[in-house]
Amino acid sequence: MSGFPNPSAPASLTFLGAARTVTGSRFLVDSGGALVMVDCGLFQGERVWRRRNWEELSVDPAKVDAVVLTHAHLDHCGYLPVLVRNGFGGPAFCTPETAELAAIVMRDAAHLAEEDAEHANAYGYSKHSPALPLFDSGDAEKAVALLRPVDHDTPTTVPGDIGLELRSAGHILGSAYAQLDVSGNRLLFSGDLGRPGHPLLLPPEPPRDSDVVVVESTYGDRVHEPTEVGDEIIAGAIRRTIGRGGVVLMPAFAVDRTFVLLMTLARLETEGRIPAVPVYVDSPMALRALDVYKDAIRGHDTQLRPEVTMASTAYRPSHLKLMPGREESVKLNRPGRPCIIVSASGMATGGRVLHHLAHQLPNRRNSVVLTGFQVPGTRGRALVDGTKQLKIHGRYVPVRAEVCFTNAYSAHADAAQMVEWLSGMEPPDTAYVVHGEEDAARALADRLADELGWNAVVPRYLERVRLA
Ligand SMILES: [Zn+2]
Repeated sequence: MSGFPNPSAPASLTFLGAARTVTGSRFLVDSGGALVMVDCGLFQGERVWRRRNWEELSVDPAKVDAVVLTHAHLDHCGYLPVLVRNGFGGPAFCTPETAELAAIVMRDAAHLAEEDAEHANAYGYSKHSPALPLFDSGDAEKAVALLRPVDHDTPTTVPGDIGLELRSAGHILGSAYAQLDVSGNRLLFSGDLGRPGHPLLLPPEPPRDSDVVVVESTYGDRVHEPTEVGDEIIAGAIRRTIGRGGVVLMPAFAVDRTFVLLMTLARLETEGRIPAVPVYVDSPMALRALDVYKDAIRGHDTQLRPEVTMASTAYRPSHLKLMPGREESVKLNRPGRPCIIVSASGMATGGRVLHHLAHQLPNRRNSVVLTGFQVPGTRGRALVDGTKQLKIHGRYVPVRAEVCFTNAYSAHADAAQMVEWLSGMEPPDTAYVVHGEEDAARALADRLADELGWNAVVPRYLERVRLA
């Protein structure tokens, strides 16, 4: 530990990531002695962002006293193994469900990083020789060992005498917004804020008055399509594709989104809006995450809507096939009949979905249906933007399949929902708008200033601000 608050050193907040971009959430709170990193995420997308995962951090990881994780998505927890690799050994506080899911996510990411490095070395397409993984399974295991579960709504103290409370954010299972009491300042970090209409999770808990608010802005300039519109985009794509004898490929985030999509497919089938064709879930990580969700439903977790039971969450289309094995996955590259494949990663940045894309994109009969936020620089974003070729495993693949996109199933609040949630608190001293592309962050900051009269700022990467 680097010590306890030193009254002569002013408390500060430094934006180590997710500043004018959606990924790499890392915010360093210096209480005037102790250093606490809120979220410890990987940068994803454009090379210029991803390179930052490899850069030396502006703080020595060995001097960071503790980490707080808001939830288990890679852009919020995926840098923890790197921090550990470089010397961090303190506790990483998070909710029990986040600990379970983050363990799955970090182990999977290590495995993919190792596999990518091997693949790049075998085919010689990396700029580095030999290509090395950003972190390996050993680092991920060390990171998992540091996770310290704290229940929602249970105040605790972290190194530096900093008060911490994690309150449900309704984004994915275990997700929280973090409230920190630092040297007389109350700081609220929204993490990723869920929206009121999630089919399983209760809406985010209302915020408490705070001096400083650090709020996400993924959809800071957008309003979501209604679920009904999303349903018809998905159902229409499936009917057309199956009608022409093709394969529907749905890249999906393993945690949460795969479950929600399966529920949607089961419902559309029951309503007679899509044909009863085989649905394959080809992602070992998604299957592990599905088990954590099922446990939460069976245990009546308080983050879930009270009406949610295993019976009410029909997530099984009639011909569902779960595919943990690699051999089956390879066979599925040539399915031989019309079907639906749900596979990770959701932005096609890695994982088994890349093999499926490489096989299915060149054929006009097929379709790719994207349902998650697509970060600029990812293959998923390129598809949504209408690219004609996609580089996969060092080769260019022609894009002839139909591509559809909907944000109707987003796990994030949209701009109106975000303003509504924040309007429940007194204006803070300052609000910092993060975790959004620059236009989205600015749009939300403007709305907070115009509609709520807030002092709202879009911070720069590595900018440091003093706490009052
Ligand atoms: Zn998230």
